[in-house]
Amino acid sequence: MFTKHIGIDLGTANTLVWVPKRGMVINEPTVVAVSLDDNKILAVGLEAKQMLGRTHEDIKASRPMRDGVIADYRITETMLRYFINKATGGVRLLRPAVMVSVPVGITSTERRAVIDATMNAGAKEVYLIKQPVAAAIGAGIPIGQSVGNMIIDIGGGTTEVGIISLGGVVTSNSVRVAGNKFDQAIMDYVRAKHNLAIGDATAEAVKIKLGSALPLVENKKTEIRGRDIVGGLPHSIAITSNEVTEAIQDPLREIINVIKSVLQKTPPELSADVIDRGMVLSGGSALLRNMDQLVSKAIGVPCYIAEDPLMCVARGTGIALENLELYKHSILSSKT
Ligand code: ADP
Ligand code: MG
Repeated sequence: MFTKHIGIDLGTANTLVWVPKRGMVINEPTVVAVSLDDNKILAVGLEAKQMLGRTHEDIKASRPMRDGVIADYRITETMLRYFINKATGGVRLLRPAVMVSVPVGITSTERRAVIDATMNAGAKEVYLIKQPVAAAIGAGIPIGQSVGNMIIDIGGGTTEVGIISLGGVVTSNSVRVAGNKFDQAIMDYVRAKHNLAIGDATAEAVKIKLGSALPLVENKKTEIRGRDIVGGLPHSIAITSNEVTEAIQDPLREIINVIKSVLQKTPPELSADVIDRGMVLSGGSALLRNMDQLVSKAIGVPCYIAEDPLMCVARGTGIALENLELYKHSILSSKT
């Protein structure tokens, strides 16, 4: 079956491809492995992610997206071509229409780069949609009403916060602080407190296994391995949930501050709506234990986690593309 419409969540951590009526067809880490001597793509997605930090000098595994925008244009384009081909079954003659989500704070140059990369990767036409809008659509929020809805997407690279009403973003802000900063904070903490150097994959695994945004009553413990920074030899230590909570205090505070900054510039009628309806969390880092509790406690308004938080944005891009007329006020720009 030929696929005419493709929605892409081009995330810093994960790229998801959503096809109307088929659902999620690709969900892979945004990582590409390239051989350095002939510039050939060796692996894309999960296979490439497993190579991060473990390659020899002829192979480079890299993340082509940084902080929600394209950091390596050529690799992003190649990766998009690979994913678009995979999603369409490689029928090159009929090019699909593609909707890509972009961060709210994206510059016009960065936006241009996303359009060009997607066109060159095989799209017939490209539409862009702001991430909070896509996340809200994907979370099933009726965005067309004249009611304010607040969506907070905490991904790997960025936290995007927006108040949406009548299909558009009324107030928004984003910070380049999200899951990756939690991982970095855990690495720094373990190095400073336990004299152990660990890689980011290990830090991420610890975060997912026992991390929490608020201290846990039942403090869990796990063993982690790395390199002792004094003797230089492999070493393992035990770390607890509450240590992880302590390690990620700074990035958590920055996320709370950006949510506050958006609420402070929101028109009062819409603030009243947010109290009524609560705030909705999406993105992979919404899955950090007690993230919703921390946000409701800090803001004083109930906070809910969207269903399938990792997939909201991708689903939203696909739904918007299928209902272009309905969502035309939410679509940022297009190129045909
Ligand atoms: P992006 O949109 O930037 O690609 P995603 O929304 O895909 O990011 O989320 C990826 C982030 O979510 C990563 O930092 C990952 O470590 C984090 N994450 C995924 N699952 C969990 C979990 N269960 N607990 C905490 N963090 C998680
Ligand atoms: Mg995302």
